[in-house]
Amino acid sequence: MILNAFELSGKVAIVTGCNTGLGQGMALGLAQAGCDIVGINVSAPNETAEKITATGRRFLDLRADLSSITGIPELIEKAVSDFGHIDILVNNAGIIRREDAIEFSEKNWDDVMNVNSKTLFFMSQAVAKQFIKQGTGGKIINIASMLSYQGGIRVPSYTASKSAVMGITRLMANEWAKHNVNVNAIAPGYMATNNTEQLRADEDRSKEILDRIPAGRWGLPEDVMGPVVFLASKASDYVNGYTIAVDGGWLAR
Ligand code: NAP
Repeated sequence: MILNAFELSGKVAIVTGCNTGLGQGMALGLAQAGCDIVGINVSAPNETAEKITATGRRFLDLRADLSSITGIPELIEKAVSDFGHIDILVNNAGIIRREDAIEFSEKNWDDVMNVNSKTLFFMSQAVAKQFIKQGTGGKIINIASMLSYQGGIRVPSYTASKSAVMGITRLMANEWAKHNVNVNAIAPGYMATNNTEQLRADEDRSKEILDRIPAGRWGLPEDVMGPVVFLASKASDYVNGYTIAVDGGWLAR
């Protein structure tokens, strides 16, 4: 039956940056669908751990600063030694720096590119190697953005990094589909999380954005729960290299 194809019992999902925001919402959605969760965070994910364990699933709390890729092998090793296998990776951790392009610093460029693109790629590579070793296939879900499609304002490294996410999602899908590894992305629209705190605090920008969203509201972490479960499940086995916008209609305007 088709609803069984969405069932994730017995699966193990790594979610990066799940102490808050969209990562927390997606970790919770995956746990509600049956996954045990490996959270990779810099900050303590206490609230997420509580919410996951309340669903009856296990939560493994791993800590790492994902601005560097050096810790990745150890993270994968710990996840595998605890749960025995990995089935799903959600590359959610991301940062944004706002500064006029004319003044934009090298640090603001490198910091954002490192977390949002470089680590996302090398984390995917390490997990794909594990999927291939297991012989089980697997699902990789990258978190893109409206700025994978559009230019944005005052966020040059964010736009570069999220445009790269959409591109390398396609590349990884092309190379790994033969191993039954699906690589896709979710492009959230304007969501009410820490990432958009500054935007929402600016009354003019906030009104401008809200007026352009057909759904007439900012998105919420709950809005990405269904799409991530779909992309993590058997229901999406023939979806490869695609970025799904979850944006209240922003791109349709
Ligand atoms: P958020 O609340 O700022 O969440 C970002 C997450 O990434 C947090 O868990 C954060 O940890 C983690 N993180 C940042 N730097 C890290 C590092 N060096 N090492 C490990 N973890 C790190 O914002 P969000 O909106 O939920 O963002 C989640 C993803 O969605 C990001 O990739 C973001 O770019 C993307 N996105 C958001 C929107 C939006 O409108 N909100 C739209 C499109 C795409 P800390 O809390 O400890 O900093």
